[in-house]
Amino acid sequence: MTVMAWFKKERKTRTATRERLEIPADAWEKCESCGHIDIREKFEKALNVCPECGTHKRFLAEEYIELLTDEGSWKELYPELQSVDPLTFEHYAERLVSARKKGGASDAIYTGFAKLEGHPLNLGVMNFRFMGGSMGSVVGEKIARLARRSAEKKIPMVLVCTSGGARMQEGALSLMQMAKTSAAIAQMKLAGIPYISILTDPTTGGVSASFAMQGDVILAEPAAVIGFAGQRVIKQTIGQDLPEGFQTAEFLLDKGQIDDVVPRASLRETTARLLRHMQGHRLRGTAA
Ligand SMILES: [Zn+2]
Repeated sequence: MTVMAWFKKERKTRTATRERLEIPADAWEKCESCGHIDIREKFEKALNVCPECGTHKRFLAEEYIELLTDEGSWKELYPELQSVDPLTFEHYAERLVSARKKGGASDAIYTGFAKLEGHPLNLGVMNFRFMGGSMGSVVGEKIARLARRSAEKKIPMVLVCTSGGARMQEGALSLMQMAKTSAAIAQMKLAGIPYISILTDPTTGGVSASFAMQGDVILAEPAAVIGFAGQRVIKQTIGQDLPEGFQTAEFLLDKGQIDDVVPRASLRETTARLLRHMQGHRLRGTAA
């Protein structure tokens, strides 16, 4: 090969590469379920749902807040609550520092006040990016405060749940949050204040065994994994194969454990409609 020939060949390759790079690689997104590849914008427009097969990919806590509130109405409550390291659990202090960098300063749940289609609501949205949405003292305290606020101000509460379970680094203190949140929600119910629980993928462990399953209405996103213990543990314990679709939203709906499976695209409208109906009933009850 002459030097000139080599040089020409090199130029040709570089041109081809430049053309290919006109659409940057990160503009594309692939669905892990069906392999469909589309421009990222299409996934984003569909609220991170695959436009081909309808698989619900993970949606950020901040995105749920945007989806379920009227623009500019969200006001965060209790952001000052911070996890401490009560058991001086190995590496917990460092893990909290990195979790705050990754998932924000609000621990594994955002709590706040907002309006949805003009209806006031107290909204809590769990944040999976903060240590897998694990429930420690801060998550429990925020939910308990939000439920008490709902009872006091007579405003419905909506919780968007996602969690890997209790935060093991806080040991028994984490488990106590199940009782604490349940008691606060019971008080709210005695006051006749509606509570809507929205289960997203995954909702497991102590969260599924407490407030997630205590909604007056319990909704779930399609195919969300919802359950207490992991499938492998259950299988080993009972020594039996598990039924098809076990621990999915659809399975739970079929067994009567939740009220409806709602695609993300309908979540805002469905929640607003439920709030309208439940509030209307309460107001009529008050007037009678
Ligand atoms: Zn797909």
